[in-house]
Amino acid sequence: MSRVCQYKTGERPGRGSYTCCNCGFCLKLGADDKMPPCPNCNNTTFTKA
Ligand SMILES: [Zn+2]
Repeated sequence: MSRVCQYKTGERPGRGSYTCCNCGFCLKLGADDKMPPCPNCNNTTFTKA
């Protein structure tokens, strides 16, 4: 099953771990956190880890 990069920078997808679709960097967000650009590669699409 391929991963769908459904979460984007600027959204508030909720508490959880998200993985950068470009470099695989794992990002943890709280309930009200806005998704930042990837701190590692500046990519703006993520998938739920
Ligand atoms: Zn990245």
